[in-house]
Amino acid sequence: MENITKLKIGLLCRGINVNPHEKYFREIVPEKYAAGGKSRAGVAGSGKSFILEHGEPCNIGVLQPFLQESPYEFKIIDNKGWILKDGEKAIKATLREPQWHQTSLSNEIQLHGKDSLATALSNYCIYKKQGEGCKFCIIDVGGDVVFRDPLKIARSIETIEKNPDLRASLNIEDKYNPNLQAEELFKRKKFIEPRDININAGALKNAAEIYGTTISKIREVSKLPVFIEIGPVTKNEMETLYSAGTNALSFNMEVYDKNARLNVIPGKAKQNSPDVYLKAMRNASDLFGENQVTSWILIGLEPVEKTIEGIKRIAETGAIPLPKPFRPLYGADYERRNPPRVEDAILIYREWLDTIKEYGLNPLKAKAGCARCNACFPLRELLKYGV
Ligand code: SF4
Repeated sequence: MENITKLKIGLLCRGINVNPHEKYFREIVPEKYAAGGKSRAGVAGSGKSFILEHGEPCNIGVLQPFLQESPYEFKIIDNKGWILKDGEKAIKATLREPQWHQTSLSNEIQLHGKDSLATALSNYCIYKKQGEGCKFCIIDVGGDVVFRDPLKIARSIETIEKNPDLRASLNIEDKYNPNLQAEELFKRKKFIEPRDININAGALKNAAEIYGTTISKIREVSKLPVFIEIGPVTKNEMETLYSAGTNALSFNMEVYDKNARLNVIPGKAKQNSPDVYLKAMRNASDLFGENQVTSWILIGLEPVEKTIEGIKRIAETGAIPLPKPFRPLYGADYERRNPPRVEDAILIYREWLDTIKEYGLNPLKAKAGCARCNACFPLRELLKYGV
């Protein structure tokens, strides 16, 4: 089973191809990245959350440079979804698009992983505006600047939660199975059961206030645990966010090495040193509780040993480090930068496993957010199968 972990790491690093002549090609590979913040901050944009045979989601890049070098392909064979490696069946996999993605509700809320309701409050980012954005990020793709209305976000969540038909989905292999009649398709419908709400945005002035207002509105209509991704905030702001109803949060370090930070995330690096992030993590761990604070750290944008050092420093604060392979995206400053080597990622994930054991951390206890979702990382696989 260790191979499942390695396979997931390979998929996260290298992405997947789909034959453009297959009738399901456009359902998987968009013509371009979604605008209006739907591609989110960071590197997860363009990915599709396949659900692998063991039940875990995997956000795999489907539209990005270097895909022609990936050994992976998704293909429906004999009405079953498969991920192939070098043309050989590697693991069964499927995709499920919920019904609400066909409606205007998808402007507010997108499904992440297999059961997370995600929204970006805005695609504006002060660092991008200053010409100092993170070089991997395409949050501003599409040009239009969007600030979402908190009330509309809350109403969309309420509508989705209350209407099972909006949460209905079909496995992609069933949807494209010519032998299935309407009655059988109806029986095979799967209803997505949302488990949490995941909120992010670009770096904003008054971020805590904007997030707080939205979370208060959500709390009026939903009991789902709320996770937010935000820059380091003060203790007071943390308390406001906590009182508004935030259950878990992430301060994303992205890159640990000081020199690499200045190159890769110039605006963020000048605004806050790694120590400021670490302090915020420590304070938040005290307030939000064990295993409810996380920090993304990207694999492939600094020397391996620096990423490992960053992982250890994050874990020391009581926060869960979330290492994720860097993904080159079209239009990003780092479009032509190679994705990380799979062997380097495996090395980092081995260290991650040792580190979280050493510090007594447990991502399985995260109430909400990226650690719970697991689509962008092989966390549950590492804990269950090792690597
Ligand atoms: S802070 Fe960096 S990752 Fe976040 S939205 Fe701005 S440019 Fe993108």
